[in-house]
Amino acid sequence: MLNGHTTLITGAGSGLGAALAQRFAAEGSNVVLVDIDEDKAAAVAAALPPDKTLAIGADVRDTDCMKAAAAKAVATFGGLTTVIPNAGIWDYNRSVTRHNGHELSDMFDEIFAINVKGYLLTIEATWRYLIQSRGSIVMTLSNAAFYAAGGGPIYTASKFADRGMLLQFAHELAPKVRVNGVAVGGMRTDLRGPSAIGLKERSFSDSIDRWGSSNPYIPLHDISTDPKHFAGPYVMLANPTEAGNITGAIINADGGIAARGFRSSAGGDEL
Ligand code: NAD
Repeated sequence: MLNGHTTLITGAGSGLGAALAQRFAAEGSNVVLVDIDEDKAAAVAAALPPDKTLAIGADVRDTDCMKAAAAKAVATFGGLTTVIPNAGIWDYNRSVTRHNGHELSDMFDEIFAINVKGYLLTIEATWRYLIQSRGSIVMTLSNAAFYAAGGGPIYTASKFADRGMLLQFAHELAPKVRVNGVAVGGMRTDLRGPSAIGLKERSFSDSIDRWGSSNPYIPLHDISTDPKHFAGPYVMLANPTEAGNITGAIINADGGIAARGFRSSAGGDEL
């Protein structure tokens, strides 16, 4: 599906970003794995074809880092066709009722810097190359870009902000660059929290183990699903033959949260 493509993915050292790097490489794309932790990006790249893979350590909050990463990608592979802003952290469902104003202020700054400013600076560093290639952007969004309770107020606001940027960029970059998103749902990844409240080392996988995989109830699967099962819509949206007339669109790949209704995992008819 992606022969001749070059795809830059942020947060590619772990979880969904790593799964996307593997899938895009399998579809024939060169892959540029960007992560704040260069060793993690390099470890994922080590299992992929060396002549089609580049691992770069860069912090998405730093515009100079992101410009240098994009320039290195283009110098290596001759251009960029797809950019996937994906690096993010979660707020561990922390409610406004649980924290004081200072804590909320610090959490806001940290989460928005990665989840929102990071997406902005990733796109700022790459849009000129995408104009040249008539390429596309596929943003990682979340069920939290549509519904409550996919996080606390700060994470939810950050993903709604990403959704707003998606629409704005689709407007600004048309007709030369398509801008779409995939609103993924719960996955078993190493997703971390803000250091501002001591959650940088806590992994989402541990929370899944504590909650049990059927909590919350999701119609099609549970929250311990492997992130590789979310890669298909990204491939379709990146492919200009399949999605050449699609921009400003979001595929909800969350296991059917909108169709959950009032049925619980305990109740309802077995089919
Ligand atoms: P993950 O922690 O496994 O992967 C995120 C990667 O981003 C890590 O390798 C981390 O080092 C990197 N990163 C963090 N801060 C960075 C920075 N400042 N600069 C560069 N890289 C940075 O988590 P994941 O679940 O794979 O998260 C990927 C995306 O999926 C995020 O945007 C997240 O909000 C979204 N998401 C995850 C879930 C889920 O259930 N895991 C659900 C919905 C949406």
